[in-house]
Amino acid sequence: MGHPLDASVAEMARRVRDRADPVTAKSLVEESLRRIAALDGRLHAFLHVASDLARTQAERVDAAVAAGRDPGPLAGVPLAVKDNLEVQGLPLTCASKILAGYVAPRDATVVARAVAAGACVVGKTNLDEFAMGSSTENSAFGPTRNPHDLARVPGGSSGGSAAAVAARLVPLALGSDTGGSIRQPAALTGVVGFKPSYGRVSRSGLVAFASSLDQVGPLARTVADAALLHAVIEGPDPADATSHVFAGSRPPAPPTSLAGLRVGRVAEFDLGANPDPDVAAALARARRVLGEAGAREVQLSIPLGGAAGIPIYYIVAPAEASSNLARFDGIRYGLRVPGEDLEGLYAATRGEGFGPEVRRRILVGTFVLSAGYADAYYKRAMAARRALAQQFERAFEQADVLLSTTTPTPAFRLGEKSSDPVAMYVCDVLTVVANLAGVPAISIPAGVNAAGLPLAVQLWARAGHDAALLEAARLLEDRLGTPAPLPALTREVLA
Ligand code: GLN
Repeated sequence: MGHPLDASVAEMARRVRDRADPVTAKSLVEESLRRIAALDGRLHAFLHVASDLARTQAERVDAAVAAGRDPGPLAGVPLAVKDNLEVQGLPLTCASKILAGYVAPRDATVVARAVAAGACVVGKTNLDEFAMGSSTENSAFGPTRNPHDLARVPGGSSGGSAAAVAARLVPLALGSDTGGSIRQPAALTGVVGFKPSYGRVSRSGLVAFASSLDQVGPLARTVADAALLHAVIEGPDPADATSHVFAGSRPPAPPTSLAGLRVGRVAEFDLGANPDPDVAAALARARRVLGEAGAREVQLSIPLGGAAGIPIYYIVAPAEASSNLARFDGIRYGLRVPGEDLEGLYAATRGEGFGPEVRRRILVGTFVLSAGYADAYYKRAMAARRALAQQFERAFEQADVLLSTTTPTPAFRLGEKSSDPVAMYVCDVLTVVANLAGVPAISIPAGVNAAGLPLAVQLWARAGHDAALLEAARLLEDRLGTPAPLPALTREVLA
């Protein structure tokens, strides 16, 4: 594994930018494509491999270097893009049959920014259909497997992006997180996953699931790599009215050490007897390590921050989804199944095009918004959401960051939860609340259990404090000394 593709992102881009160095964008892209060809038959992280596009982009980067121009901080770095983000000229499926044949007419803002910084898009990654799920089993094109154990899920919904990074097919991937879809798969595959503050990153070109919760973010092997991609994609965009500068919140200077950092321990984040003992031990170790480094633990309560998040989220998110997914009508995009009349065409297209989980969300969402029920469900959930956000604000008066696990358990087996939607929803108990409150949160690797399955911990911060959060996470990552584990599969195939 001594290939330049396994160096830090900063290092590989530096080598590509250095005219005297033999490492080129082309060589990095070819190695990434070679690894995808060797491994992805077993993982199914990719729905589409974009060899031509990646090679063209790499040639452009290498030509810029040869001409003495700087191609940018991601020069030549292979990038995988979750297939609910637009990449011009590539198919866009959202892992749904309903988008059959649809080709993206433009780049999402985040993709355009990454490519402008020198990144090369090697492909589109698998996901739960329309990002609804926690295992990538809800893909219409078949599941992605966890590179650490092919019988287990990689998490979801950004499971393809997480598996691709974990297996070393790419150093960087873009995901989206509506209720945990970057952090949970990052945790289950042993990589870093960062969900920025709501409004930090443009959603233009991300297919909307729940617009008030959706946020795009990076998956990477290290916090520094994730921070580099985040720095390139973040910032306001006229094409997304909710993206903004966090001027009012005056973010603090990032911490220079963990000494004195106030780390919140939230009573409601404690899952009692529920978490897996290895997950609990990884969290306990992180607390100890922080304490040894001089951080101060602060006991806090966020009454709606624990189990209450699940019912709030599973009303708000389906409500928004039912409205956002109304556009897939058989007329404007992708699949069209004929019917007797227009109404019949809609019904036939949506009935055939959407999978069972997406249909369930649309039904729930339509129900909670319907006359007579909106007060009891949607409006109550929105009131609880506002209260939850205020409780987070108060907690962050006493703590710089919060620490928790990311998921209750390590990666579970394929099929283990697929017949029980509520068991699947509960995977998100410690991730959905960050989206409901709009705060940033990051999952970082915290070792492996006896079976070699990755463990993780999560840090949270106040909205707008993304830079400080990333720096705190980098310091903790350093102290933990448990870098992203290399899957045995990758070691064998690439040796
Ligand atoms: N697993 C959650 C859900 O199914 C979150 C998904 C996401 O963040 N996109 O809705």
